[in-house]
Amino acid sequence: MKEILAKTILTKNKYPQYWFGNDYNMNLYRGCHHGCIYCDSRSECYQNDSFDTVMVKKDVLTLLQKELSRKRKKGVVGIGAMSDTYNSFEKELEITRGALKLIRDYHFGVSLETKSDLVVRDIDLFLDIQKYNDVIIKLSITTVDDQLSKVIEPYAPVSSQRFRAIKQLSDAGVFTGILMHPVLPFITDNEENIKEMVRLAYQNGAKFIHTYFGVTLRDRQRDYYYQNLENDFPNLKDKYIKHYGQRYQCLSKNRKHLEYVFKKECQKYGILYKMEDIIHAYQTSQNKIEQLSLF
Ligand code: SF4
Repeated sequence: MKEILAKTILTKNKYPQYWFGNDYNMNLYRGCHHGCIYCDSRSECYQNDSFDTVMVKKDVLTLLQKELSRKRKKGVVGIGAMSDTYNSFEKELEITRGALKLIRDYHFGVSLETKSDLVVRDIDLFLDIQKYNDVIIKLSITTVDDQLSKVIEPYAPVSSQRFRAIKQLSDAGVFTGILMHPVLPFITDNEENIKEMVRLAYQNGAKFIHTYFGVTLRDRQRDYYYQNLENDFPNLKDKYIKHYGQRYQCLSKNRKHLEYVFKKECQKYGILYKMEDIIHAYQTSQNKIEQLSLF
């Protein structure tokens, strides 16, 4: 695997309240080979011309160890926003596992998102980390239909594998939920998908679903998406062009109704969906050793 140079690894997040309480963000790898047709990380602003090739940052764990040891504030570290940290190299390389060990040793928290069921390998570390700080795991799932997930996320484990991972994490006592981002107009924005997503979330022990009823599209990411629509969904590209033109935010035409259905179903099953409620729940649900020792 190719290595790339990196001067720093952790970046400070100014607005933790908008994204799962992440105080810091980091990506251990660059690029991702899950091949999701809608992936925003292909956009030109991220300057990654070979996004489908996974590269690892050189000496990334040494860099992380140095940075964690120097931080005064022991916050929650977000992993996996720009590339899935459980790619197929991770099984052997254990870079993510190494990073989690450091996060544990320095008593930081973790907020991780992935489409891979390899995440269950690290349940032992999540349980260790939550003795001292906060842990939240998000499985990204956009459709309940395995066949469709193979088309829109071709190289990621299918949706049912991700639901199984949620169950394993939840059963072990790790605060876990679903990122249902994006909801693709004319593909996954239907009541059946939304209702079944909430039902399966409940059945598998997910504590929350965070969603966005649409997809954002720009520059070469849009080109890649349209190219795939042409291959797999006849006439859909024309429909997108007609409805959205060059718009960045392509919101589902059904969103008001879907939002209503989604909230109703979440309330029925006791699934959280508001960002502030999710953050509050995971940051108060774990009885940490340091908190307990205060009493
Ligand atoms: S898993 Fe995430 S980073 Fe990887 S291609 Fe899919 S959306 Fe992009």
